[in-house]
Amino acid sequence: MFGTATASLAALLVCSTLVAARPAVRNLKNLAEFNKLIKHHKENTGLPVIVDFYSDGCGPCRQIAPMYKKMAKAMKGKAVFTKVDVNFARDISGAQQIRSMPTFQFYSMGKKKHQFSGGDPNQLQQWAQNLATDAEKYNVQLTKDNLIAFYKENAPDKIDEAKIDELLAKAGEGGGPGHYKLVKKLNKKYGKKPELLPNENLMDKDEKKKKEEAKAGPGIKKATTEELKAELELRMEAEQDKKDQEAEDSDEEEVSPIKFFSKGDYAERVAIVGAGPAGLAAAIYAARAGLRPVVVAPPMGGQLQGKGVMVENYPAVAGVTGPMIVADMVKQAAEFETVFLQELVDEVDFSSRPFTIKTNTTTFQAHTVILSTGADSRWLGIEGEHKYRGGGVSSCATCDGFLYKDQEVIVIGGGDTAMEDALVLARTSSKVTVIHRRDSFRASHVLAQRVLQNDKIEVLWNKTTVKFEGEKVALPSDGTEGETEEIDSLTTVHLKDTATGEASTIKCTAAFVAIGHIPNTKFVEGKLTMDKQGYVVAKGDGSTKTSIEGVFAAGDVADKVYRQAITSAGSGAMAALDAERWLSEEGIGDEAAEAEAEMMRELLAEAAMEEREETEYPDTYKEPKKEEPKKEEPAAEEPTVDDNGEEIVEEVEEEAAHTEL
Ligand SMILES: Cc1cc2nc3c(=O)[nH]c(=O)nc-3n(C[C@H](O)[C@H](O)[C@H](O)COP(=O)(O)OP(=O)(O)OC[C@H]3O[C@@H](n4cnc5c(N)ncnc54)[C@H](O)[C@@H]3O)c2cc1C
Repeated sequence: MFGTATASLAALLVCSTLVAARPAVRNLKNLAEFNKLIKHHKENTGLPVIVDFYSDGCGPCRQIAPMYKKMAKAMKGKAVFTKVDVNFARDISGAQQIRSMPTFQFYSMGKKKHQFSGGDPNQLQQWAQNLATDAEKYNVQLTKDNLIAFYKENAPDKIDEAKIDELLAKAGEGGGPGHYKLVKKLNKKYGKKPELLPNENLMDKDEKKKKEEAKAGPGIKKATTEELKAELELRMEAEQDKKDQEAEDSDEEEVSPIKFFSKGDYAERVAIVGAGPAGLAAAIYAARAGLRPVVVAPPMGGQLQGKGVMVENYPAVAGVTGPMIVADMVKQAAEFETVFLQELVDEVDFSSRPFTIKTNTTTFQAHTVILSTGADSRWLGIEGEHKYRGGGVSSCATCDGFLYKDQEVIVIGGGDTAMEDALVLARTSSKVTVIHRRDSFRASHVLAQRVLQNDKIEVLWNKTTVKFEGEKVALPSDGTEGETEEIDSLTTVHLKDTATGEASTIKCTAAFVAIGHIPNTKFVEGKLTMDKQGYVVAKGDGSTKTSIEGVFAAGDVADKVYRQAITSAGSGAMAALDAERWLSEEGIGDEAAEAEAEMMRELLAEAAMEEREETEYPDTYKEPKKEEPKKEEPAAEEPTVDDNGEEIVEEVEEEAAHTEL
């Protein structure tokens, strides 16, 4: 008998519809889908996967899109073409550290073979073709008959039908990379290969199989709940494919929640430079105050983009990575009428009002500016540093230290930041080793003493870090339950003695690079008060005001002490409130709306005048005319006799008497 859950699943299956061919360019929505696709083609088809990271606001992305689609259609069955909208699927672009658009990635057998940024059609075509040609070798099938024939000749004792079936099933049903690898292994062992058959087009086969499975269904009455669930998933996937295909067929681009900036005739009220937690919190507050702020920042950027692991210390936000938090903030800001200009600001002119903001494609004006461009960590620039970021190498001990609780970690640096990081980590890690390239610390005496006196902290003097090394570790993936993904994890740090040149290694699970930060303030250098390191200095009255009226600073660009997402978002909210107050005090409203309203008033007034002249109003609408008081006519003297000379008086009286009757 069916249980209730099984019955409702079955009902759902009966209702769901099928089946569509895959769209030429598949739109990937999240990291789980991306990982699943790469894995699927590694294990089942061997086809290369090409990924186009794009954004609606990027001109070169729009230019190359038709050519990409054409290529995808032409190479159907030879390569898999996908696209990722960086404004939607920030978890994918964050994990892939995408910094500019368009960026193309090329995967083969689960490995990234190449990546480039920019709309270069030649490079795109060349890499896609090369990988597709290379992938043809996987398009083979080892049949049971051929394998038996091979064993007969080379290892008759191995002929066991059940085992052969098992071996072929393991290699993958119907051919593909598993069969190719099996043949390679046999060749290595016996010095000979079994005969291989060229396979049918792998992608078509893949699709055909799905269609057949979907059509056949699980035999609803006999199916278990698990089978029904799997079937439902399959059908939902097919449904999604159908939708993708329909969207592509109608050539309608998906509507982005983001509204893009277009320059108007009047100055904006609030321009926010930077789209990290500070800038986006400012945008949410300013937008909700009806100020329609413009956020200017590249689509990818900010420190949280590099945080592929979970952010665990942002209140009320659990189980999300850095890019996911930023994506949600962007969405929230966009919902309240924030507009986005996805470019770097090259220059801001504060010398006259309204201020002028310049990017490499446009210039516009704004009455207030909120600077929230953050501060980038300084990195060592050594081998393995980029590879193991998020897998042990970090620049934020407060943020990531807890992930390495009870483990051995290292801190690289000799200034105040390194000392603070070492002391923070000593509270949770089992051992902290500080690596410093000199024989004394640059840090303040008090901090240095605390480090030197801490039992959990060891210092290695005169050592430079030359390389990070690690291994692949399977961890539960962010998305699908039960699935794992391979992460590059740090295991070893290679050192060199600055005095003797001697090489050494140190084992650890995390290394914190604490050699300072660079505030992103180059574009406003010398234009407002900054400290020696380039941080914007606030006015000192507890607000976010800077040395220039109408310019406010929020987040890490003005904070070298706390440097957290939550503190940045907090100061972003403060900056928006400060800007709103400043605009009110200055009496600056929505000039565009005011001008429009004025124009409408004038037009209506004009129309009313014309109408008055041309239209005959109904009497009721006419102004009541003032009646001239009537002049009393002097009463004509009554004739007393008629023409015949007889008296009239009696006649009138007679008539009156008659009327009364
Ligand atoms: C590895 C790592 C892990 C972290 N983990 C955590 C954590 O778990 N929890 C936590 O609270 N904090 C964490 N932090 C710290 C946190 O990310 C920062 O404190 C926070 O992101 C700062 O926010 P912000 O908005 O000031 O700057 P950012 O987030 O750095 O954003 C700066 C923005 O300005 C833009 N920008 C820069 N220059 C320009 C320009 N010229 N024109 C236009 N735009 C520009 C950038 O593209 C970006 O959009 C981590 C930091 C790092 C490096």
